Amino acid sequence: MDKEGIRGIVDEIAALASGSDRMNLMEVCGTHTVSLFRTGAKSLLPETVRLVSGPGCPVCVTSQAYIDLAGELALRPDTTVCTYGDMVRVPGRRGSLEALRAEGAKVAVVYSARDALAYARRNPERHAVFLAVGFETTTPATAATVLEAENEGLKNFYILGGHKRIIPAMHTLLSAGEVPIDGFLCPGHVSVVIGAGAYEPIASHYRKPCVVAGFELEGMLRAILLLVRQAVRYEARVENTYGAAVTVEGNRAARELTERVFEPSDAVWRAMGRIPESGLDLRPAYRRYDAMDRFGLSFGSEVTPHGCLCGEVIQGKALPTECALFRKKCTPREPVGPCMVSMEGTCAAWYKYGPARAEGGGNR
Ligand code: SF4
Ligand code: SF4
Repeated sequence: MDKEGIRGIVDEIAALASGSDRMNLMEVCGTHTVSLFRTGAKSLLPETVRLVSGPGCPVCVTSQAYIDLAGELALRPDTTVCTYGDMVRVPGRRGSLEALRAEGAKVAVVYSARDALAYARRNPERHAVFLAVGFETTTPATAATVLEAENEGLKNFYILGGHKRIIPAMHTLLSAGEVPIDGFLCPGHVSVVIGAGAYEPIASHYRKPCVVAGFELEGMLRAILLLVRQAVRYEARVENTYGAAVTVEGNRAARELTERVFEPSDAVWRAMGRIPESGLDLRPAYRRYDAMDRFGLSFGSEVTPHGCLCGEVIQGKALPTECALFRKKCTPREPVGPCMVSMEGTCAAWYKYGPARAEGGGNR
């Protein structure tokens, strides 16, 4: 779409929103947070439309206690923790996995669960524990890897379960009622798997508009236009601007793969606490791949780094710039909290693209 077309959408958003109080739209997913900055979408929005981040970054919502357990495992002499790169920099109580390496912790950075399986295969004398984090997008790959380990009869591969389901988290946010949310910009990647239809209960029960979007400027602006239009008309429906990739039903085969290996369970989210049915446990038939069981682990208490507002940031209660540590003690080079760790973390996105201080307006 050319500049004129983009301008037309932006003008329509501004015209629709001009007569109402400022509305808060939550971008659930970290990739949207970055794309909204990177494409300039945020700066095109009027003062009356404010975008806030939500709990859609798997790294950011992973509890401190989980990071601590990963560190404990990595320090065992016969165990290697295999993990995505962004997890190694998340600070734990004793430091990040990266820092623990200096104390002898064994950590292998992998790009997929299958890489972790390959590590286990190559190193039969060691236990390989994959940090299985991520939303519905990554869960099927973990499930497939567990099945592969079983087919091969591998005895030294385990997962530390940290997968999360986004819809229960949205329910929790809304039922707490602490954050004014007028609509959800629903994640593109997760929706490929769960389908646009998964947001129906959010729209109907809480009367919140939900619009699925991809990550290009036009698609995101169109989605924001649809959200604003619904909000000013007091409508609450699910719409989808990412029809090329997202269907109503989603990817049934991927979901079946997950359901074969995992069952819903309660899970602890950073700052949000225990959310019913928001996590996934290995089914009893696959429990032998569970690192918690195998190594007799249990979660310790949660400790928030002093002054860190990550918990508020991932619930849309605070902007990164409202954290006293932002840009001072906390930077991408030396992150204090998880939101500053990866490129898609909200604080890292604000550090790179956003203003240094909180300021009014839709382009915050
Ligand atoms: S850290 Fe991110 S890429 Fe990694 S999960 Fe967060 S939002 Fe996505
Ligand atoms: S600036 Fe750092 S410490 Fe503050 S909320 Fe963001 S990640 Fe947490």
